Amino acid sequence: MIDPFGRAITYLRISVTDRCDFRCVYCMAEDMTFLPKRDLLTLEELDRLATAFVDKGVKKLRLTGGEPLVRRNIMHLIRSLSRHLGTGALEELTITTNGSQLERFASELADCGVKRINVSLDTLDEVKFKAITRWGDLAKVMAGIRAAQKAGIKIKLNAVALKGFNDGEIPEMLRWAHGEGMDLTLIETMPLGEIDGDRTDQYLPLSAVRAGLSERFTLADIPYKTGGPARYVEVEETGGRLGFITPLTHNFCESCNRVRLTCTGTLYMCLGQEDAADLRTPLRASESNELLSNAIDEAIGRKPKGHDFIIDRETRKPAVSRHMSVTGG
Ligand code: SAM
Repeated sequence: MIDPFGRAITYLRISVTDRCDFRCVYCMAEDMTFLPKRDLLTLEELDRLATAFVDKGVKKLRLTGGEPLVRRNIMHLIRSLSRHLGTGALEELTITTNGSQLERFASELADCGVKRINVSLDTLDEVKFKAITRWGDLAKVMAGIRAAQKAGIKIKLNAVALKGFNDGEIPEMLRWAHGEGMDLTLIETMPLGEIDGDRTDQYLPLSAVRAGLSERFTLADIPYKTGGPARYVEVEETGGRLGFITPLTHNFCESCNRVRLTCTGTLYMCLGQEDAADLRTPLRASESNELLSNAIDEAIGRKPKGHDFIIDRETRKPAVSRHMSVTGG
């Protein structure tokens, strides 16, 4: 699949549920209305959709959410999709998780061929963790991380950089993650969906974080890539890798290789634009994949050049009205 800007689309992210067992303050309002269960695609339908994308050249599949591991019977889907690793059609099957259910699922994930996962963790402080996630328990996440490591799964930590919340803690997180053999990636907060707070108060440009870190650490740019938008440096003092995902301070859309499917079968060709394609109707219209395949081609033909996120005092509304938990971060 090649889009109008010559980019090969080889990466599909699937939000398998919009529900989550956390309520991170920059991601969701506390009182969220979720989709009625009857609107969700079944696991069999998600499998059929994902397989159609694999047949069309997708090499990397990531399940996300909401929290992917809270979707009932999610391991059925993961086990079933792992057959594409067996045939070589798929190069990587992975998840992004908050870690809350990882202790329970880590060994089964490893057994399904999941080799590395992203765990979202914004602080190492138990009290702050509770404050940012509203409902989370840091000890459970830590147990999940340990279980995944024991199962042989590599972990990359993702932390959203938030002004006045974790900026002072980033050096400590960096030392801890690298000491435990994990990469750490920092993410700029993106203007997605209405939340209870003001994003201008939270927004911390990573250019400033990097400048601050450079006073304490020796950061060397490296060409390392994981198929995503992060740009990496190697930290001489720890020997580990630190990634920066900078949708606001540095737009990376020119190398975008991905599209995002929601749990209702809506395909978003860009995280930061409203345009979407309905794949549920062609999926359900026939048992053959012809209609679906045509709908996917048509959607890829509409992939926009990029997003235009802005966070400032004048721009009060989010760039798109849907939350990250809908499209899958
Ligand atoms: N529940 C899973 C998790 O916590 O990783 C997967 C879904 S979550 C929406 C994926 C990632 O998006 C998390 O790392 C989260 O911190 C990040 N995220 C959510 N809202 C965001 C926003 N407005 N800006 C930047 N990152 C955001």
